[in-house]
Amino acid sequence: MHEMSLAEGILRIIDDQAATRGFRCVLRVRLEIGELAGVEIEALRFAFDAVKANGIASQAVLEISTARGEGWCMDCGTTVPIAALYADCPLCGGARVRASGGMDMRVIDIEVDGDTADDPNRRSRRPPA
Ligand SMILES: [Zn+2]
Repeated sequence: MHEMSLAEGILRIIDDQAATRGFRCVLRVRLEIGELAGVEIEALRFAFDAVKANGIASQAVLEISTARGEGWCMDCGTTVPIAALYADCPLCGGARVRASGGMDMRVIDIEVDGDTADDPNRRSRRPPA
């Protein structure tokens, strides 16, 4: 399942950030998912709930925004909004549209429990790479 490996990837990013920034509890993870990324958002939520269960992100809520799909139409030379990878150009109807935006998923922000002042791990955190 594609979404399961994406969810594991998100968890790895969280773990890396936790090692760098020294937090222990993640409250919220903000993701941006392109309309053309081929990600089933509900399936991703389900997968993330499964993989987060016993880790640092067990309390974390996914906040997902979508990025509009965009393509470059070679016939009319315009960047156009498209809803699918191989959609025709909405302006001229041409089929030679190359996807140019909204094709990936990225982690925008990880919101953590701010009360980490007494956390002994904070002092030993590694500097940002
Ligand atoms: Zn066109």
